[in-house]
Order: sequence, then C-alpha cells, then structure tokens
Amino acid sequence: MQDHEIAYWIEKETWRQQNHLELIASENFVSLDVLSAQGSVLTNKYAEGYPGRRYYGGCFAVDEIEKLAIQRACSLFRCRFANVQPHSGSQANQAVFLSVLSPGDCILSLDLRAGGHLSHGAPVNISGKWFRVVSYGVDPVTHRIDEAVVRELAFQHRPKLLIAGASAYPRFINFAFFRALADEIGAIFMADIAHIAGLVVSNQHPSPFPHAHVVTTTTHKTLRGPRGGLILCNEPDLAKRIDSAIFPGLQGGPLMHVIAAKAVCFKEAMGAEFQNYGHRIVKNAKALAHALMAQGIELIAKGTDTHLLLVDLRMHALSGRQAEALLEEVHITCNKNGIPQDPRSAVHTSGLRLGTPAITTRGLEEHHMEIIATCITQRLHDPENSSLTQSIRDQVLALCKAHPLPYN
Ligand SMILES: *Cc1c(COP(=O)(O)O)cnc(C)c1O
Repeated sequence: MQDHEIAYWIEKETWRQQNHLELIASENFVSLDVLSAQGSVLTNKYAEGYPGRRYYGGCFAVDEIEKLAIQRACSLFRCRFANVQPHSGSQANQAVFLSVLSPGDCILSLDLRAGGHLSHGAPVNISGKWFRVVSYGVDPVTHRIDEAVVRELAFQHRPKLLIAGASAYPRFINFAFFRALADEIGAIFMADIAHIAGLVVSNQHPSPFPHAHVVTTTTHKTLRGPRGGLILCNEPDLAKRIDSAIFPGLQGGPLMHVIAAKAVCFKEAMGAEFQNYGHRIVKNAKALAHALMAQGIELIAKGTDTHLLLVDLRMHALSGRQAEALLEEVHITCNKNGIPQDPRSAVHTSGLRLGTPAITTRGLEEHHMEIIATCITQRLHDPENSSLTQSIRDQVLALCKAHPLPYN
C-alpha cells in the first residue's frame, strides 16, 4: 500500500486482533473469502435500483451477484423475500419503519437499559424522535422479558409495530408469543435478530419464522459476514414496500462489494461446519458462564442460552467502565454495558458484556473458558498486583498464539 500512514494503522489493528482475546459479543472474524469479496473491484460499481431494474449501465455482473445473495438469504433463513442492500442493522430497521409507520405512530420495544437497541426507539435515535415509543423491560429478579407486562402495555397503547430483539439479553426470545400478541392487537411484528442470526441458522436459537411479519438483522455478528444489514419477509406487498424504503427511500447506491461478501457469508452459513460453529459458540458461552459463577461472579439472568453473558457488577467496587479498562490492559477486549435497574450512570454502568462468537471462530473450546474466566476474575479482584497482571497477560497471549487468525 502506497499510503504508509493508513498501512501502518491497519498493521497495528491486525496485530491487535491477533494478540487480544475478542470477547465483544457483537464482533467476529470473517473468512478470507468474505474479506476478498469485500476488498474487490465491486466497490467501483454504481447499481442504484434492483437486479434487472437499475439506474446505471454495466450491471450484468453485479445483477447476478445480488440475485445470488437474495436466493441464498431466502434459503438460509427459509423465507420468500430478502433485501440485501441495507448498509447496516440500523438502516434495516429504519427501512421497516419507513415502510410500515408514519411519524407519530406507536412502537412497543425492549428498553435500551434492559438490553434493547438504540434503533428501537431510544430518545437520542431518529426512531425515538419521530415515533411514540413505549418500552417494556425485564423482570427485576429473573431478568427475563415479562410477557404479562408486554401484553398489558400492548393492550394499553395499541402499538402499530411490536419489536422483539436485543443487543444485551442472554436468554431465548419467545417469537411465537410476540406474534400471537401482535395478531390480538392488529400490530405488525418485527423480529430484530442482529445478534443471534448465526445461532438461528445453526439451530441454536428458535427461528423468528414463521412468526415474524418482518425480520431484520446484521450480517457481521454471529452470522460472521461483512458489516451490513438484511431484511427478510414472506408477504409480497410488504417486500415491495421494504424495497422502496431502502431505495429510493433511505439509501443511494448499494455497496456491491459488501453484497458479494454477504452472498459468500450466506453460503458459508449453509454448510455443516457452520452448524457446528453455532453449537460451539453456545457451548463456550455456557462454559464461560459456569466458570465465572463458580468463581463468585454474578451474572444477569443467572447464565445464558445464547452467545452472550452480562456480568452484574452492582455489588462490586468496580464499575463496568473500570472493569473494561482493566481487562484491556491484559489483552481481553469487551464492553461495559448497562444492566436492568442499573444504579450507575450510562457512562460508568454496572455491567460487562461478554460474548464467545469471535473466540469460537479462533478455535477456542470449553476447556479454555475456564482459563479465561480465571483471568477475568483474578484481574478484577486484584487490579493493583503487577506481577499478576503480567502473568494474566502472558496466559492470554499464549492462547492467542496457539490459535492464530488467518490474517497477515
Ligand atoms: C447491532 C444491532 C443493530 C444495529 O446494527 P448496526 O449495523 O451497528 O447499525 C440493530 N439491532 C440490534 C438488536 C443490534 O444488536
């Protein structure tokens, strides 16, 4: 690369990825095929519109790529229609809002502080500014979605759109319940499976289909594809409205290089290896949860059904922010996170979100989770001990070296 400044920092980031344990629940490591599709000449092509209906010439090759991406998405998720153009998960959600809501309409969704996502109606997000948002939380003791409360709110506020889906919720979501409720109140039910898409296609989490009217997701979390979004549904009329909402409603030209990488990811996710990968993600998450709890660490919802866990630091002297920084020093990367009824502010937080998708891609197994749990608890219990700090960092580095990423 001629640009030495950028080349230098890409090299630094490659080093960081190689030499840190990535426990951020929303991150992953893509295959070299996904990486090369995304780094291809397809980035040069303008293709506003859809296959066979473009506003630019020269689209014969990218048309075939987008058609393959759509076909593969539909067969992977077992549905009739897919829009593979959303630039991100947030834009996929905005497109659903644009296609089924008018400004001022009511949305019922999971509270951000209970594990929901910004794009589901947080006051700082466009969704919270343009729609009337009512949110449900989780039970203060079990930390599970309280279906009786959701029902009560639904009948009280009569939302036009009911949303299920989360960024920091470690238990299964009951999509059948949400659909039955949506039918009772005449609402549209959207399932946002951004975090769990890879678990859904590997049969580790119940599928949102046939329950959801519309499903949105990212492609870069457990699904292990390029950074991007995806919208799925079964109704032709809804599919048409969603296509118009993405283009020309919200976006201009699609990122054809990213769409090609999505197609590669969908094919990878159809294979037997990916079924096994999803299974290993969950096994590792449960092993990490058990090991942490055995060492005296409290978890929200007392464990996990999925790829993620939320450490509960309410009784701990350290905030989420401090814990995140201490772990970073020993090459363990994770993020602070608010928890239900968090006594600390959104800047400090009382939670730490951990996930196993990325380390599972690296090949780490259940017996490594005990080592990682010990590293985490020792670091948080004795942060001033510098020889311990060094020995933890050495153990983490040894795990990284033994399980290298295929990048250079
Ligand atoms: C990550 C996430 C998104 C948004 O994805 P971006 O690509 O970052 O915009 C949307 N919904 C949920 C539930 C998520 O976890």
